[in-house]
Amino acid sequence: MEELRAALRGDCHVHTDWSDGADPLEAMVAAAAALGHDYVVLTDHSPRLTIANGLSAPRLARQLDAVASVNAALAGTGFRVLTGIEVDILPDGTLDQEPGLLKRLDVVVGSVHSELKLDRTKMTRRMLRALADPNLDILGHCTGRKLPVVTDARHSGGRATPRRRAPSSFDADAVFAAAADHGKAIEINCRPDRLDPPSNLLRKAARVDGLRFAINTDAHAVAQLDWLPNGCARAATAGITADRVVNAMSADDLLAWTGSH
Ligand SMILES: [Zn+2]
Ligand SMILES: [Zn+2]
Repeated sequence: MEELRAALRGDCHVHTDWSDGADPLEAMVAAAAALGHDYVVLTDHSPRLTIANGLSAPRLARQLDAVASVNAALAGTGFRVLTGIEVDILPDGTLDQEPGLLKRLDVVVGSVHSELKLDRTKMTRRMLRALADPNLDILGHCTGRKLPVVTDARHSGGRATPRRRAPSSFDADAVFAAAADHGKAIEINCRPDRLDPPSNLLRKAARVDGLRFAINTDAHAVAQLDWLPNGCARAATAGITADRVVNAMSADDLLAWTGSH
């Protein structure tokens, strides 16, 4: 586990107060740099996720300008901010942002946040269509399950005991095989209230030849950037080594990978 954690050079799934994060972009960036990362990818939500203040196309374009200024200030430090999004995978499998804008982003995480109870056939078709979209790089928290763990009062809707949510149902063999075929990565989500994919699915994914992974915090506050060990421990248990983990690559190699499919 320590070996895997030491190999990680960045985090590809982080929210700011541009959407439903608690902390400003600059604070998240400073904290990621202080953790020893080489880069952080900002992945705020897409428009349809209105409860999370998802970014419209014009707001996302403005965020890209903000990132450019932050990067200008970071010049020479060796740390950089990469642009990105956590884009909703809509029920028909299309992505909830303008394709031209998605194409401009460095890293695109695609996640299912709505209609998690679609039947297995429809959910599988939805995920396969998203994975075939050349703009998608990483499939976020694939089952959508929620564990009854309190992470931060600001993000549990103020409830002392958050509700459990069952994993959605899909053909995991087909989804993982498609991800490998398209050269995409499956996220190992480090949030204590997600830990997604569950262990049985993570073991299944680990057995798929050529399939890559991204160990991401999905941090919504500065302190949550330190959650990577949760995912590293689970990846190590499943037998996943750093050579299969996209955020163990340098920023340049990561960008070459996202530009390659
Ligand atoms: Zn999400
Ligand atoms: Zn997220």
